[in-house]
Amino acid sequence: MQNAAIASLGLNWRYLAFEVHPDDLRPALEGARRMHFLGINLTVPHKLLAVEIMDVLDDSAKVWGAVNTVRFEGKDQRGEWRPLREFSEAPSELRSHGFNTDADAITRALRDDLGLELAGKSILLLGAGGAGRTAALKLASEQVAQLFLVNRTQTKAVLVASEIAARHPKVKVVLGYPNGKVDLLLNATSLGLNSADSLPFDGTQFSLSRSEVVYDMIYRPAETPLLKMAKAAGCRTANGVGMLLYQGARALEIWMGEPAPIQVMRRALEQMVRA
Ligand code: NAP
Repeated sequence: MQNAAIASLGLNWRYLAFEVHPDDLRPALEGARRMHFLGINLTVPHKLLAVEIMDVLDDSAKVWGAVNTVRFEGKDQRGEWRPLREFSEAPSELRSHGFNTDADAITRALRDDLGLELAGKSILLLGAGGAGRTAALKLASEQVAQLFLVNRTQTKAVLVASEIAARHPKVKVVLGYPNGKVDLLLNATSLGLNSADSLPFDGTQFSLSRSEVVYDMIYRPAETPLLKMAKAAGCRTANGVGMLLYQGARALEIWMGEPAPIQVMRRALEQMVRA
């Protein structure tokens, strides 16, 4: 999706994938900086490790305690830090600036792709791993009314609940399934990635007809058994493509300083997911 966007904008840039061992993250980032990369995206497990390595953190990275987007910046003649793309010749002083675009992408996908306004809503969130924790805290920051948290390892859900209580005390958090209806069921577990996986919720405790909307963070397969069942139950549904799209689009905007071509990126992503 990044290369499709870069091509459509006529930029002389390339987006490349590198596999880096976590022990090598620091020298790999230093190498990228010295080779005058404009920026980098990081994925698991580098997002947490990079927080310590960045020269400066944007508020988004501070709030979420994770970096998924790095922008390399140079010092100009007036002593101001500017993105490297703005320099015609490489400046002598360079720094790394860490951002996080993951959390906003979750709520943007729910708003833009499903028309869901979050304030005052009741949400059942399945999963309390990295993505589940970020989703829970981001939803709480949007002033949802109630969050029901379910996770295989209960202690992780308890930790997330206590983080929400400390940061967003007005949000009611319940550990376990709701008795009545919810506006959204959000799957942030990895159940559904493999064809042999069971459903991510306990069918004896919850039925999909009790949720208006179902969002599955998984995007490959494009339709998980959860989404198939949710459609059959009459729910509005979407897979995780939107979330992936919006975190990438925001990253491109951070490097480029202009709005990203969302439709071009979505088309490229959907082709990749279907392939
Ligand atoms: P993670 O930190 O490894 O968390 C995995 C979650 O799945 C945990 O809640 C874990 O429960 C649960 N889980 C795993 N196997 C299970 C099983 N057999 N039974 C019940 N629960 C199980 O991974 P993550 O980074 O949060 O990712 C979670 C999902 O979100 C993945 O499917 C990933 O592909 C997707 N994701 C999508 C995007 C996107 O852009 N669309 C971005 C990030 C993640 P325990 O805590 O008990 O282990």
